[in-house]
Amino acid sequence: MHRSLTQFAVLGTLLGVACVQSADSAAADRGSRAMEYVRQVVEFGPRPSGSEANKRQQQFILEKLRALDCEVIEDDFVASTPIGELEMKNIIAKFSGKTDRVSVVSGHYDTLARPEMPNFVGANDAGSSTGLLLALAEDLSGEELRDSVWIVFFDGEESTVAWQGDDHTYGSRRLAEQWAAGPEKQRIRALINVDMIGDADLRLVYEGNSTPWLRDLVWDVATELGYSAHFPFGEGGYIEDDHVPFLERGFSAVDLIDFQYGMMNRHWHTEQDTLDKLSPQSLGVVLHVVRRTLEELEKRP
Ligand SMILES: [Zn+2]
Repeated sequence: MHRSLTQFAVLGTLLGVACVQSADSAAADRGSRAMEYVRQVVEFGPRPSGSEANKRQQQFILEKLRALDCEVIEDDFVASTPIGELEMKNIIAKFSGKTDRVSVVSGHYDTLARPEMPNFVGANDAGSSTGLLLALAEDLSGEELRDSVWIVFFDGEESTVAWQGDDHTYGSRRLAEQWAAGPEKQRIRALINVDMIGDADLRLVYEGNSTPWLRDLVWDVATELGYSAHFPFGEGGYIEDDHVPFLERGFSAVDLIDFQYGMMNRHWHTEQDTLDKLSPQSLGVVLHVVRRTLEELEKRP
């Protein structure tokens, strides 16, 4: 993912501190399963699209999802990239509700191809999104849902050479195109994308491309839950990520991303992106906010 930076003034959040601490300790329990999944996918090593490690990871994700009360869809495709054709796979877990409305929660599971960095394991990018989505799927299994929830694991978010032209977001561009042309276009009310949400020092971007009503709904929910320190209003920037192809096709979408991973984002796309930088609390905070946002979306007319 890539951003052009626009920093706004940072407002103090001192008022929320006491509340945040108690909310965060509950979040740690919530996030511990997500963290365990991150640990497991990191063990596959670097997981770029088309690699053997990525295929093993796909089987891991599929095995977990097939044990749950959902419909599992594998969407295999071959992407033309600057380094040649690569086999990719989007994975979708559909949890059915009573209405025909759908909320989507998505994230990518491929890691950047870094042959010159053999120890790059992408714990945060994209282990954190993979772990969170698996934990969310477990939470939703067996729940009585009003609106359906579809959980999407995108392949091919990372560029193969450089983040320019079409050399990125292969999986999300494909799915956005498919859904824009089908009945999904009317059914889907919102898409919440998560990326790099495991940093122990969690501070999400109030992302400028995202659909304003949906972004503000998420930020209001987070504030109500006591997580305002992690979801500062107005601390902006524009991120290109898997939500953009959906925005371009008229869907409402929001990106939940922390793009200050270490000082000056220095751990991003480096061998420093390791498990010890992450915390179950951070994963739990985002999981909690996503769950509550899904409930709020159900209440909307
Ligand atoms: Zn990345």
